[in-house]
Amino acid sequence: MATKKKQVARELLFGDLWEFDPAPETAPAGIADRYGLFIGGEFVAPKSKKWFDSISPRDEAKLSEIALAGQADVDAAYAAAAKAFPAWSKLPRAERGKYLYRLARLLQDRAREFAVAETLDGGKPIREARDFDVPMAAAHFFYHAGWADKLEYAAPGRDLRALGVVGQVIPWNFPLLMLAWKLAPALALGNTVVLKPAETTSITALKFAELIRVAGLPPGVVNIVTGAGETGAAVVRHKTAAKIAFTGSTGVGKWIQRELAGTGKRLTLELGGKGANIVFEDAAIDQAVEGIINGIFFNQGHVCCAGSRLLVQESIEAVVLRKLKLRMKSLRTGDPLDKNTDIGAINSKQQWERITELVDVGASEGAEIHQPACELPKKGFYFPPTLLSGVTQSHRVVKEEIFGPVLSILTFRTPDEAVEKANNTAYGLSAGVWTDKGSKYLAVASQIKAGVVWGNSFNKFDPTSPFGGFKESGFGREGGRQGLLEYGELD
Ligand code: NAD
Repeated sequence: MATKKKQVARELLFGDLWEFDPAPETAPAGIADRYGLFIGGEFVAPKSKKWFDSISPRDEAKLSEIALAGQADVDAAYAAAAKAFPAWSKLPRAERGKYLYRLARLLQDRAREFAVAETLDGGKPIREARDFDVPMAAAHFFYHAGWADKLEYAAPGRDLRALGVVGQVIPWNFPLLMLAWKLAPALALGNTVVLKPAETTSITALKFAELIRVAGLPPGVVNIVTGAGETGAAVVRHKTAAKIAFTGSTGVGKWIQRELAGTGKRLTLELGGKGANIVFEDAAIDQAVEGIINGIFFNQGHVCCAGSRLLVQESIEAVVLRKLKLRMKSLRTGDPLDKNTDIGAINSKQQWERITELVDVGASEGAEIHQPACELPKKGFYFPPTLLSGVTQSHRVVKEEIFGPVLSILTFRTPDEAVEKANNTAYGLSAGVWTDKGSKYLAVASQIKAGVVWGNSFNKFDPTSPFGGFKESGFGREGGRQGLLEYGELD
């Protein structure tokens, strides 16, 4: 897609980029022409009789036709989940664990196919889908399979019971991984589920439904309804739901919280972020530069915990900026199916427009824009890696979540100023601290109001480690023992 013709001051970073031969991933994605709703263990046509197209952000080609679930379909999904709940929740725990192990292994067996499907559907580089999304999704099922028959150790001396039917709504940035974060703990504890994937990325969830059938999960334990916001709202409001788990934007999260107030339903919200990545002058600079690049350009910056606000100690600003620009020149933006690609396609036209608009706003507010001079594919939604300097705390690009490959750079002089600036945000999901001194890391990290604070690293994930936010980034945790407890009632 061509960049808007708005006049903004841009510095194009030219450099000697080695030319790589194309290295396309050619494995088949196994995507069906049409997907019904997955209810009661079967793919069924929607009662709404409505369907929508799923297109690939890579080249705007149609991938499949997806059912649009209406209220009657959501009712049917909840009815199936409620019917399945008594037997599933009473199943011996080790038996439930076996199903989870089976799902993890089936996903591993078809890892390559799932990675290609995820890349085509969402636009992320195949390298990331292959090496991160799919293995991490399997790891979450393995981890929770291990918990299923050891629940007495999750809450020693207490009895941990399933809640009932759980409604789950997930976003488009890590479609399969977010499904795994939600399904695995819910099922390990004996809950049954109605899950709604994001409308631009339903395909791997529906392919996962195929694995659920192969694994022989009892019908109705997992139900998948597809559609957009209205379908999500029907899932959230449904009277059968004992708990709602939502990952998505802060705006929708606030609406859900208002909607659920007084209903007695349990709620966890994993929302947006504007993570600070703090680099002190005593840090290993080259290592920090790699961490900054990974922190913002991983998954095109469609990462809730992205390090989108870079805070650099003033004394090293010039050297960090120089090294960052140099490193950005070597990033390859383009066909996500190419194994050499670092930055793939923006997930949707709508998201591309939002990123473009916010970068233009930054420019009109006086930001300097640095972008590598790269040729972007003519079809599909692509945005080059972008660095904004000359910005302050009051710039919109510094305050708002852009959810794209756009980094703002700010400076600080003292650790106290770094902490104050890092916390000067409505969000509280993530941060990074780069320093040679362990004591400085601990002192700074303990003052930052964020669910995760990485030390000399960024974007590190593990199923054993709880993840979640403070302030407008939401509440509740996913992963680890804490995430498991969110799906149970303690007696
Ligand atoms: P979104 O809120 O627009 O959509 C998320 C999901 O909610 C989608 O499935 C969507 O169809 C559904 N939805 C939309 N309106 C709804 C409504 N009224 N009721 C119920 N469901 C509704 O967010 P998005 O643009 O898909 O995702 C990006 C956002 O997700 C970013 O803000 C990002 O930071 C956040 N995110 C957070 C985490 C985390 O763990 N904190 C992880 C990933 C993404």
